[in-house]
Amino acid sequence: MLPSSANTVIIGGGVLGTSAAFHLTDAGHSDVLLIDQGPIASGTTPQAAGQTGYLNTDEFAFKFGQYCIEFFETFEQRTGRAIDFRQSGSLRVALTEKYQNDLDARLQAATGRDHDVEFISADRAKTLVPTFNPPDDCRILLIPRDGYVEPKSVAVAYTAAACDRGATVHTRVEATGLVINNGRVTGVKTNDGVVETQWVVLAAGAWTRNFAQQLGLNLRTVPVRHQAFVTAPITDVTPDQPIVRFTEPQLYVRHEAGGLLVGGYGYRPLSFDMNDFHRKFEISALEADPVYYQQLRDQAGKFFPSLGGATITQERRGLPTISPDGRLILSEPGGLRGLVVLSACGVGGIDRSPGAGRMVADIVGERTPWIDPGVLSVDRFGDNFASDASLRAQCEEIYAHHYHEIY
Ligand SMILES: Cc1cc2nc3c(=O)[nH]c(=O)nc-3n(C[C@H](O)[C@H](O)[C@H](O)COP(=O)(O)OP(=O)(O)OC[C@H]3O[C@@H](n4cnc5c(N)ncnc54)[C@H](O)[C@@H]3O)c2cc1C
Repeated sequence: MLPSSANTVIIGGGVLGTSAAFHLTDAGHSDVLLIDQGPIASGTTPQAAGQTGYLNTDEFAFKFGQYCIEFFETFEQRTGRAIDFRQSGSLRVALTEKYQNDLDARLQAATGRDHDVEFISADRAKTLVPTFNPPDDCRILLIPRDGYVEPKSVAVAYTAAACDRGATVHTRVEATGLVINNGRVTGVKTNDGVVETQWVVLAAGAWTRNFAQQLGLNLRTVPVRHQAFVTAPITDVTPDQPIVRFTEPQLYVRHEAGGLLVGGYGYRPLSFDMNDFHRKFEISALEADPVYYQQLRDQAGKFFPSLGGATITQERRGLPTISPDGRLILSEPGGLRGLVVLSACGVGGIDRSPGAGRMVADIVGERTPWIDPGVLSVDRFGDNFASDASLRAQCEEIYAHHYHEIY
């Protein structure tokens, strides 16, 4: 039976909500209730490629990413819960001068911080990734600490570790609204009754914007479609080969079940208003864009010729949330105490989930946040992007340049 009260209620059992549950309970907040309208990890999270990538030239993003990578490296040992983290490393490939300079900047960011990052030759790249055919004039940065997790495992492991620490989880419970008294949240309305609470963490993925709209909040984030595909096994593809990321064309290619998993950005970006779907819509029912898939395959095939004849065994797609500056939205909104909005993770919610969960625990614990929270504030856009049209256009643009931007 759904409890009638909890100190903190988390709405959404994707990777962000479950990370919040883990970090809250790990920090000693045991009276935490996590609810999801479906099963745990049934939204965009299980569709992800699960790649991590911490090396950034932006100081904030670097510090944030460093916490995340250290967290993934140690989580299993700390909690006994498996996240299937394979630290394969990654190759960041730049074809043109503009983005070759970006690689220099990344190398510089790592230098002096004891991060073992280096430029490698095309021949070495071919040895590491035998099916990869790099162009002669490209530059390639090897980042050994990158890797990938099984995304559903991560949300499941966060949930299990949170339950080990006292959290309660109720699935098939839909939050329908909040109870607000004198500018402070005091409860969550659900299809199974009201839960009295002091804190609500809103981590409802693609549904976050619409949920907030009924509270009178215009969150600057929209869901944008992202797609990837997986092939049947291909000779010479191995689980330990590094991820290959191309700054241009924006593509990633990694091992999956003996085949290749391929995704990319800038291909027909499309945002959604969740009110346009029927009430019981599930992410797994999101329609495919076959042209996008074909474009991905054509581009990736130039560097991975074996993709040409490969059979596609799985398509992945979902609705990650994007903000107008590409950063997370993570704070209490001005004028409404007790609500922590946790959204706009971009196509990086798995990767960013540790740092985001830690920030939630700091806010609820009313401690000084571990990292400057200003850049993530819900209210940072002021009056900008207030109309749906301008917001959607900007978020599609940000998504379309995911690998070009630094944030
Ligand atoms: C093809 C693809 C590849 C990707 N690759 C990567 C990658 O390599 N690395 C990476 O870091 N990220 C990647 N991502 C992005 C990543 O999947 C997302 O950033 C992340 O999963 C979003 O997590 P979330 O918790 O915000 O949302 P979700 O996983 O969608 O979770 C939200 C949850 O909220 C629940 N919910 C919604 N409304 C309510 C309500 N009213 N009441 C109760 N519950 C509610 C939903 O049921 C859902 O379970 C990829 C995404 C896709 C689609």
